[in-house]
Amino acid sequence: MTGRVIFVSAGPGAADLITVRGARALATADVVLADALADPALQDLAPQARWVSVGKRGFEHSAKQAEINALLVQAAQQHAVVVRLKGGDASVFGRLEEELQALADAGIASEVIPGVTAASAAAALTQRPLTRRGRGRNVSLTTAMTAEGELRAALSADTEVFYMAGRQLDTLGPKLLAAGWPPDTPALVVSRAGCADAQTSEHLLRDLADAAPVHGGRPAVLIVGTGALPASNKIVVSPEPGHLNNQSRS
Ligand code: SAH
Repeated sequence: MTGRVIFVSAGPGAADLITVRGARALATADVVLADALADPALQDLAPQARWVSVGKRGFEHSAKQAEINALLVQAAQQHAVVVRLKGGDASVFGRLEEELQALADAGIASEVIPGVTAASAAAALTQRPLTRRGRGRNVSLTTAMTAEGELRAALSADTEVFYMAGRQLDTLGPKLLAAGWPPDTPALVVSRAGCADAQTSEHLLRDLADAAPVHGGRPAVLIVGTGALPASNKIVVSPEPGHLNNQSRS
């Protein structure tokens, strides 16, 4: 018997940021191969399934990815419905292409269910829209790390959202300045967006190193440019857990 694989985007952090479609897929799963960033509380949506954590965080090496690809193919050869649960949106920095390729090579059918990416959760939490009429016409989702593990900054859009920047906050600032961003560009860091213990801090690019101690090694996105600006200086954020009350200003 060969089954099929549903890639389910878990959303960032909190379990309730999954989509209804994703939750329904979990309820049909025989086995779930889950990422480290997915909230363990999501297991409640798949009590019937065998839950396998294939977690990896940070600088994953390709050997581990090859093991996951093999595990995925094997699971689909043994079960009718395999859910591959990925943090945030499966299509954003999720190594999805490699897993889709492995399944295609093995002749296994797959489906991808979209979800909330960390950039969206960070924008929602801080009420700082990623696009702004007139002056924020494009957004780039960018990784600060190349596949070879080299730190590389960029200036390619009005708003640049850097993923996988959590451990590079102290070294990324000078690289961003060298890439052409002015030193007084607004920068916003949000770690564990979507979770009750989310942290936010705002900086000028020249002082970005101040963000490092606030966010430590937590999963964090760095928003640089127009999208880091407050939408209004009069916004009153409703006191939901983890919201701007823990913000540090520099
Ligand atoms: N597919 C995920 C991204 C996976 S790459 C998504 O769409 O969000 C992992 C990186 O995502 C982390 O290094 C961090 O930059 C970011 N990230 C994931 N969860 C996050 C969260 N809750 N808050 C802030 N950044 C997060």
